Amino acid sequence: MLVTGIAELVTCAGPDGATPVDDLAASAADRLGVVADAAVVVHDGRVAWVGPAAGAPPADRVVDVGGRAVVPGFVDSHSHLVYAGDRAAEFTARMAGTPYDGGGIGVSVAATRAASDDELRALLRTRVAEMRSLGTTTVEVKSGYGLTVDDEVRSLRLAREVTDETTFLGAHVVPPEARDDRDAYLDLVCGPMLEACAPYARWVDVFCEPASPHAFTEDEARRVLTAGARAGLGLRLHGNQLSAGPGVRLAVELGAASVDHCTYLTDADVEALVGAAGTTVATLLPGVEFSTRSPYPDARRLLDAGVDVALATDCNPGTCNTASMPFVVALAVREMRMTPAEALVAATVGGARALRRTDIGRIAVGARADLAVLEAPSFEHLAYRPGMPLARALDRSPDE
Ligand SMILES: [Zn+2]
Repeated sequence: MLVTGIAELVTCAGPDGATPVDDLAASAADRLGVVADAAVVVHDGRVAWVGPAAGAPPADRVVDVGGRAVVPGFVDSHSHLVYAGDRAAEFTARMAGTPYDGGGIGVSVAATRAASDDELRALLRTRVAEMRSLGTTTVEVKSGYGLTVDDEVRSLRLAREVTDETTFLGAHVVPPEARDDRDAYLDLVCGPMLEACAPYARWVDVFCEPASPHAFTEDEARRVLTAGARAGLGLRLHGNQLSAGPGVRLAVELGAASVDHCTYLTDADVEALVGAAGTTVATLLPGVEFSTRSPYPDARRLLDAGVDVALATDCNPGTCNTASMPFVVALAVREMRMTPAEALVAATVGGARALRRTDIGRIAVGARADLAVLEAPSFEHLAYRPGMPLARALDRSPDE
């Protein structure tokens, strides 16, 4: 299949689809890989050729995108899509001044436990379809609204139906029934719950936030991640969202793939992330700060220091109920002073890195042919036209 009529192609892999975006020997422009009047050849679901349309090889099938821009499909490396119920009332109260402390998660836990498998599956599939309609082609999905062995297994089993990037988040909060015995709940999470969930999960995650009475301390988070690693899972961590806590330090020490939020960082945290470049990504979730009316993470400080940065939605019913990566890109540019190019790279290659994947997030020869088409002549419109329905995943199903 030949995709042509591309006014502007951004490969995030150089103009020939062969230069790694992290090849620092190449210029920033070369790494971004912007090609005017471009074409892409897709074969067996993979990118087979990238370059100027004038030089494209012949193909069985031609898809003309009509002068639009094409970018790599977004990699949303942080979401919580398996839940029932909504928390619009909590959002309204928060806008009127009620602070966020993580306690509302219990509301989603109750609604999720009460939902049937079919109800949860339908809700999950609708949310993934919404993401795809906004240009996202890979999504990580966490459990964490079940918080019993059966409900966590069920969440991950359903998540596995829509993505390989599934994350066990039994340590999201201490559930209401376990408030009086945190240790017993951690024994459950690190024991029978982990054992039952591991077959359906690639990753383990923990909400490490000593400032919240509902989340977990450094020692508790270390226990969860160490147990997860022993069970063969990769590590991720929610940290430094509400205060400059121990999350970043712990994630770097344990070699986690990503530490997510990074809103409150000390100089030592930033230094630790610089030292962990290539191993631990700082994933920023500015939709959360937007939806909780909180200060944004200092993306410039991280980028200028040389930290690997990703952008993701954190799509969840409490603190950020949006599935839109274009919205996140717009926030990153407007509110965190990232350039449109930095934001696009963080939303594609950055997310791929946070999932330790090299086959997604770039339009490179051999990579998955996950393309997003923009109703725009250039990728800058993602930030320039916030809130507009600009991006959609290119449907290449007839080719597969
Ligand atoms: Zn989250």
